[in-house]
Amino acid sequence: MKRIAIVGGGCAGLSAAFTLEKLRKSGAAAEYTLFESSGRFGGVLATETVDGCQIEAGPDSFLTEKPWASDFCRELGIGEQLIASNDIDRKTYILVKGRLIAIPDGLMFMVPTKILPTVFSPLFSLGTKARMAREWFHPPRKAQADETVASLVERHYGPEMVDRLADPLLSGVYGGGASELSARAALPRFAEMEAKYGSLGRGMIAARRKMVKSRNAPARPLFTALTGGMQAIADTAVSQLKAAALRVNSPVQSVQPQNSGWVISAGYASDHFDAVVIATPAHIAADLVEIASPALAAELRAVQYTSSITVNLGYAGDVRQMLPPGFGFLIPRSEGTRMMATTFVHTKFPHRAPPARALLRCFIGGSRNEALLDADDDEILNIVRSELAQIIGLRAEPLFTRVYRWRRAMAQYPVGHLERLGRIEALLQQLPGLALAGNGYRGIGVPDCIRTGTEAAQKCLAVLGLAAAVPHRMPATM
Ligand SMILES: Cc1cc2nc3c(=O)[nH]c(=O)nc-3n(C[C@H](O)[C@H](O)[C@H](O)COP(=O)(O)OP(=O)(O)OC[C@H]3O[C@@H](n4cnc5c(N)ncnc54)[C@H](O)[C@@H]3O)c2cc1C
Repeated sequence: MKRIAIVGGGCAGLSAAFTLEKLRKSGAAAEYTLFESSGRFGGVLATETVDGCQIEAGPDSFLTEKPWASDFCRELGIGEQLIASNDIDRKTYILVKGRLIAIPDGLMFMVPTKILPTVFSPLFSLGTKARMAREWFHPPRKAQADETVASLVERHYGPEMVDRLADPLLSGVYGGGASELSARAALPRFAEMEAKYGSLGRGMIAARRKMVKSRNAPARPLFTALTGGMQAIADTAVSQLKAAALRVNSPVQSVQPQNSGWVISAGYASDHFDAVVIATPAHIAADLVEIASPALAAELRAVQYTSSITVNLGYAGDVRQMLPPGFGFLIPRSEGTRMMATTFVHTKFPHRAPPARALLRCFIGGSRNEALLDADDDEILNIVRSELAQIIGLRAEPLFTRVYRWRRAMAQYPVGHLERLGRIEALLQQLPGLALAGNGYRGIGVPDCIRTGTEAAQKCLAVLGLAAAVPHRMPATM
C-alpha cells in the first residue's frame, strides 16, 4: 500500500486529496492523509450567512474562462450550484480625482477593443486616447527579457493607463501593483499577443473571435460562483473524502526524506509516507522543507506574499438606490485612499442578499497597507466607512459588519518569478516524491490552485508508478 501525505487543506490540498480518493475508490493500493493546521478545511474559502446575506470572507467567485474550478465542482456533483455573475448589470467604476467614472464598454482587462465607447469616455485624457489609436499599429515584438506589467502597459498605452486601470485591476487580484508584478508571470497572454500581433487590441479581438468560433456559443459570464457559497467547494470535497484520512488541528512542522520516503512531523507524532504534496503558501512550505533542502527552502521563502482584509457591510435595502448602478468600483493608488476596491455584492450576485438588504464588500490592505492587518476592527471599519462617505456619500448606519484578515495569503509574481519557478522545479527533481501546490507558483486564483493540487497528486502517483490508475471520474459506487 502506497501512502501519500497532503499538507494544507485549502482548495489546492483538497483537490489533491480528491484525486487520490478517486484512486483509492477504484481499488488501487494507495491511501492518503490530509493534514490541516486550523480547525476547518477550505483555507481562504470561507462563507458565512448573516442576516439572510451570504458573505464571502475570501474569494467571492472565479474567472469562468479558467475551467478547473467549474470542472472540479461538476466532478464533486455540485455543478448545478454554479452561478454566473449578473453581467447584464456589469459596470465597474474607477475613482478619478474623487469622481467615479465607468470603465467604457469593450475594455477587456485594460485593452480597448471597441473604438467609440473609449473615444467618448472621460476615463482617459486625449493623450491616452491618441496612444490607444497608435497602439493598433504596434509592430510585433518578441520581448528579450521579463518586465513589469506597468512597463508593458506603459509601452502600449502610456502611464495614465497604468495608474487608472492596470494598477487597480491587479491590486484587486494580487494585492500588489502593476509596477511590482512580472508581465510574463501575471499576464502571460499579453506577452504572447505582443509577439504575435504587436497590438494588444488586435490580439485581444483575435483571441475573442477564436474563442467564440471554437465554442460556437455566445460569450460566457466573466465570473462564476456557487449558490451555496464558495465554501461549498470545500465542504462537498470533504464530505467525499475518507473521514479517517482527515486531520484538522494538525500543523505539520517538517517534511523530511527518510528510507526512500518522507517523514511528516505533526505535533508530537511522526509518520512515514511514500510521497508528499505540500499545499500551503510557499513561505510555509519553505519552513517545512528547511532540513530536507535548504536551497529549496530559500527559493520558496523568496516568493513574496501580501495580506488583505475584506470588510463586509450589510445595510437596509433602501441603500441600493443610493449607489451607482453596477458591480462596484476600483481605486487607483494615486487617489490616496486606503481602500482598494468595493463590490456591490447584491448587484454582482443577487442571490447573496435579500431585496431588503444591500451588501457591500470592501478590500483594504495589500502591498499598499500591510500594517493595517494589526489594526482592530473598529479602526478598519472607521477607515472604510469614512472613505465610503467621501467617495459615494454613503453615511447610513450598517445593520451588520464583518471584518476578515488574511495574513500573507496572496502570492506576488515579481519580475524573475518564472526563473525562480525553474530553479524550484530543478531542486524538486532531486527530491522525488515531493510535490508543491497552491497559489505561490503558476496562478493565484481558485481555478489555478485547484489545477495545481490535481497535478501535484498526479506527479506523486507517477513517481510511485500509479499514475495510469487514476480514473477520470469518481466511480458511482463505493
Ligand atoms: C481575500 C481574498 C480574496 C480572493 N479573491 C479571489 C477571487 O475572487 N477569485 C479567485 O479565483 N481567487 C481569489 N483569491 C485567491 C485564491 O482564493 C487563493 O489563492 C486560493 O484559494 C489559495 O488556495 P490554497 O489551497 O493554495 O491555499 P490556502 O487557501 O491558503 O490553504 C492553505 C491551507 O494550508 C493550511 N496550512 C498552513 N500551514 C500548515 C501546516 N504547517 N500544516 C498543515 N496545514 C497548514 C492553512 O491553514 C490553509 O488551510 C482570493 C484570496 C484572498 C485571500
